[in-house]
Amino acid sequence: MAKQIQIDLTPEEYASEAAVRRAVERALGVADNHMDDPWRITRRSIDCRRRKVVYHCTVEVGTVEEGVKNVGGGENGKAEGMKGSGVKEAQRIVIVGAGPAGLFAALRALQVDMKPIIVERGKPVEERKADIVGMVRTKEVNPDSNWCFGEGGAGTYSDGKLYTRSTKRGDVGEVLRLFVEHGADPDIMVDVHAHIGTDRLPAIIARMRDTIVSGGGEYHFNTRVSDLVVKEGRVCGVVANDEVIEGDAVVLATGHSARDIYELFARRGWLLEAKPFALGVRVEHPQELINEIQYHGRGYSKLLPPATYSLVTQVGGHGVFSFCMCPGGVIVPAATAGGQQVVNGMSNAARNSAFANSGIAVTVNPEDVGAEGPLGLLEFQKQVEARAFEAAGGCIDAPTQRLVDFLERRPSSRLNKSNYMGHCVSAPLHEVLPQFVVDGLIQAFKDFDRKMRGFITTDASLLAVESRTSSPVRIPRDKDTLQHPQLRGLYPCGEGAGYAGGIVSSALDGIRCVESISLQR
Ligand SMILES: Cc1cc2nc3c(=O)[nH]c(=O)nc-3n(C[C@H](O)[C@H](O)[C@H](O)COP(=O)(O)OP(=O)(O)OC[C@H]3O[C@@H](n4cnc5c(N)ncnc54)[C@H](O)[C@@H]3O)c2cc1C
Repeated sequence: MAKQIQIDLTPEEYASEAAVRRAVERALGVADNHMDDPWRITRRSIDCRRRKVVYHCTVEVGTVEEGVKNVGGGENGKAEGMKGSGVKEAQRIVIVGAGPAGLFAALRALQVDMKPIIVERGKPVEERKADIVGMVRTKEVNPDSNWCFGEGGAGTYSDGKLYTRSTKRGDVGEVLRLFVEHGADPDIMVDVHAHIGTDRLPAIIARMRDTIVSGGGEYHFNTRVSDLVVKEGRVCGVVANDEVIEGDAVVLATGHSARDIYELFARRGWLLEAKPFALGVRVEHPQELINEIQYHGRGYSKLLPPATYSLVTQVGGHGVFSFCMCPGGVIVPAATAGGQQVVNGMSNAARNSAFANSGIAVTVNPEDVGAEGPLGLLEFQKQVEARAFEAAGGCIDAPTQRLVDFLERRPSSRLNKSNYMGHCVSAPLHEVLPQFVVDGLIQAFKDFDRKMRGFITTDASLLAVESRTSSPVRIPRDKDTLQHPQLRGLYPCGEGAGYAGGIVSSALDGIRCVESISLQR
């Protein structure tokens, strides 16, 4: 019978298998080098709240099951547990969007003998990369292929952080297992704060495609959905590139940047709701400084990974919080159309750049900005992004200000070095952003500096605008069947529908929607 024990290890102990073994033996009361049972670390996290930084580890001793097999798509490109091509004649589910919600919906569909038909406005992940690189060079945004749109969705060129608070919404372990079966490092099953890295994600997404296609699913790339086919209150397909793609059910997983989909719903008079979201800036520090703050001084162990942080405070009724923190990361232009300036962050698996960045966002409710109607907050979001675009001189350069200047509400006469993928231009963000956001950020930065001494520094920069934190619109659905209240057969899904935020919760929502379709067969 396997036994689970908890041990704490210094970074030096953690780096040595012999030292970990000795710690396990001591915890079990066994003399050094006398433990015969197999053992493995099943959970690990770094605790840097006290001066002495430790790894908290859960260790399983005894009958240790074989670790997760890294089949990477397997010989025939299929992950284990997926069906063969037996779904050809099965129920057809049209899945709009190949982001995490859409891909995991498709993988689940194969498991329950349904045929997933993925309709994606963007390109396969291999071709998408050229557009992203081109976007940085030409400063032109392709509205169908960018940091948010294309195979893998917004999660592809990201840090690939895999932690979520929505553990009640489904089996997080299943999502992680599917990532591992498609080539992710099995360590993501062990790390409490796991991430994959943008250099590894595209290959994983491509292997998921192999699994879906070889299991009998279909992909339609470069195919933007512009309408739904509705017969007698039931959705039975989509219109894309002027053609109809029929299905027995439609999963709408278009992400929070598919504004044309929200506008379609508004035009057609289908139910939509405004949803609070958050808005702010991306703050960038030298990673070394964040390491020194979090790991308590310059003498920290260099065996530790680049440090992260997570901060939250309340200012005048608004939550202000750090969001999508990317240690050793890069800031990217995340606009999805011309006339917008948006920033976000990503990191490689090694998180090895010299910069740490994080979104810092203030919650926005309709009453804060006098927004009316379901698209009121979306209009507000658009206006702020357009102001940021103008502040950059009418392009996707990043309007930037030093943190210390922002606090004094004065323009920056010089800027720090930045790891933005593009150019930074000095801009008075205290004038570009709405005043309640500026006030919230200023108070929050002072509070964050009390929690992390040194957070306010001349070396920190703010880049604007961090506006795609979550969707400002919700596409409602019945809480039991997950179908749109007016449109039977339509399953609003993932972040764009307002039911998820992040890779794992969107993936879980995709799985849930397909399970609901399956129950109603
Ligand atoms: C740069 C960046 C870094 C991020 N880092 C992280 C991170 O580290 N961890 C984390 O958990 N989250 C991260 N996120 C957020 C995460 O990516 C999203 O929460 C997640 O991708 C949402 O999944 P989704 O499937 O609901 O939507 P999306 O991923 O947005 O996918 C929607 C898909 O629908 C397609 N689409 C849109 N409209 C149409 C249409 N009309 N017809 C056909 N197809 C359409 C799009 O092209 C896209 O592929 C990051 C986001 C960005 C932009």
